[in-house]
Amino acid sequence: MEIVILVLGGTAEGRAVAQALADRGMLAMLSLAGRTSQPLTAGPVRSGGFGGIEGLATYLRTEGVTSVVDATHPFAESMSHNAAQACAQVGVPLVRLTRPGWSEHPLANSWLWVEDHAQAAAAASELIGPVLLSVGRQHTLDYVPHLEDRHVVARVAERPSGMLPSRWVLLFSRGPFTLTGERELFSQHAISVLVTKDSGGELTEAKLRAADERNAYVVMIRRPEMPEGLTQVSNVEDALARVV
Ligand code: NAP
Repeated sequence: MEIVILVLGGTAEGRAVAQALADRGMLAMLSLAGRTSQPLTAGPVRSGGFGGIEGLATYLRTEGVTSVVDATHPFAESMSHNAAQACAQVGVPLVRLTRPGWSEHPLANSWLWVEDHAQAAAAASELIGPVLLSVGRQHTLDYVPHLEDRHVVARVAERPSGMLPSRWVLLFSRGPFTLTGERELFSQHAISVLVTKDSGGELTEAKLRAADERNAYVVMIRRPEMPEGLTQVSNVEDALARVV
């Protein structure tokens, strides 16, 4: 089957774009990093890295890709950077789809904004009480040196690769999360500090409201910068309008 549109995914938006293209009878390939053992997908999927910018450029050429939708997570910085470079090199149009962040959220001014995980870990270590760590599997271990002796609930979709302190609670869960469920979680563990990333969107937003209700501190990690000059859209419909 000839591939026309490459959708870089790993997000609900990536799935939605690939599905919508398939529904329109278009040839779309959803690309996943291959980190999740049982990804939720429908339609043609490829899995695993391309091998950097050159690998992706080769893939675009050999598979005859005519346009790319980068619907990776706002924190998937390397993939977005590689996509921008490879598409420019091969001359394939690229649309970056990122859901709106939480910087305009009504509660945003009450949060402690930090630049990266190192700052977030340092900030959380200064705050008192049980911590809900919602920073993704890949970065959970970064917090061990700072929070080793604390009551930490680390919520992840997949087991982090490495040892966690025995007193930490590892919670396997994948969004969307409801406000009722988040209230229960905060209450069960008496959470007073939430550490999270500015992932944006509604599917994981309830924790921010649950934190506010409990007067818990929120340590919010800012989004990384996007490559300059990208065509950016913030919803699935606008991404489709660009490529269909
Ligand atoms: P990353 O740091 O930007 O990517 C690291 C490498 O993984 C890339 O250079 C690329 O390898 C490969 N890769 C990433 N996304 C890919 C894709 N969609 N298809 C094929 N290869 C991909 O990304 P990450 O933060 O590790 O995230 C990995 C995946 O998880 C992404 O697809 C992202 O959408 C999803 N995700 C990430 C987060 C997060 O917080 N970072 C949260 C939810 C979901 P090569 O250089 O070999 O091509």
